[in-house]
Amino acid sequence: MSSHLQPVTITTAMKALKIEKTVRGMKKLRESLKETVGFVPTMGYLHDGHLSLVRQAKKENDHVVVSIFVNPTQFGPKEDFNTYPRSIKEDITLLQKASTDVVFLPDVSDLYPKGFETYVSLKNLSSKLEGEIRPGHFTGVATIVTMLFNIIQPTRAYFGQKDAQQVLVIKKMVENLHVPVDIMVGKTIREPDGLAMSSRNVFLSPTQRKQASILFKALLLANQLFESGENQSETIKEEMTRLINSTTGKIDYISIADTETLEELNTIKKSALVSLAVRFGKTRLIDNITLKK
Ligand code: AMP
Repeated sequence: MSSHLQPVTITTAMKALKIEKTVRGMKKLRESLKETVGFVPTMGYLHDGHLSLVRQAKKENDHVVVSIFVNPTQFGPKEDFNTYPRSIKEDITLLQKASTDVVFLPDVSDLYPKGFETYVSLKNLSSKLEGEIRPGHFTGVATIVTMLFNIIQPTRAYFGQKDAQQVLVIKKMVENLHVPVDIMVGKTIREPDGLAMSSRNVFLSPTQRKQASILFKALLLANQLFESGENQSETIKEEMTRLINSTTGKIDYISIADTETLEELNTIKKSALVSLAVRFGKTRLIDNITLKK
């Protein structure tokens, strides 16, 4: 994050976008927002997936706050925290165009000061799928989201179905801890060839980018098989695996699980969450689809 940015106000014909960089300043600003507040937490390098959440928040609330913060505690020691793409200036321009009211750009040291030692962790949901491969990831997510909720005190908070397990983790955390916020979920926004938009797509080589649409194709295949009467997860997974293995993508997992508990299902009855993670070189992509009768 560029440290030369000072708190500024960018004025548009319609409304001013306030940029707040400190926790203290954000809390103070929140006090002045008397009506409903929609909140969209992000790690920046914004694309239309993020902006669709901002637009939804705008429709449903009087004020919209977007945070941009690459949260170190949700990255493992060998993960891409340092190389995660950042583009604060472009992000601010996009948010301004989307009529965002406030952008919160905190520093790591403000959110995790010396002596920080409190974490929010979920016992079961966090350890499956993404959590199994990325230990500690969802503790980092639940902790930062809790902090941001406490600072921003939103009426509603917006998350993308693209990160289906994250949605389940946040919903469970909010329910269990009685956090007074409504969790709203936006549908996954895709490129024309079906690839789910993601900040990490920028790292794909042109060949990998072409092949990366295989994730969505495999999910559509699962849906097609289910709709034509196949209910055995193993059979569906085999077909998906065969399709993905026709590319250079390396499968981390394919899961067909209960839509709330994420327990793996052998037989699909009424519904299932099909999710997968595939690596192209160093770039790891995730996607999912819900099967429903
Ligand atoms: P991130 O910046 O990756 O942490 O994402 C911030 C929010 O945007 C999360 O709630 C994501 O689930 C959501 N998001 C990311 N990509 C997409 C997408 N392609 N469609 C919809 N929402 C998305």
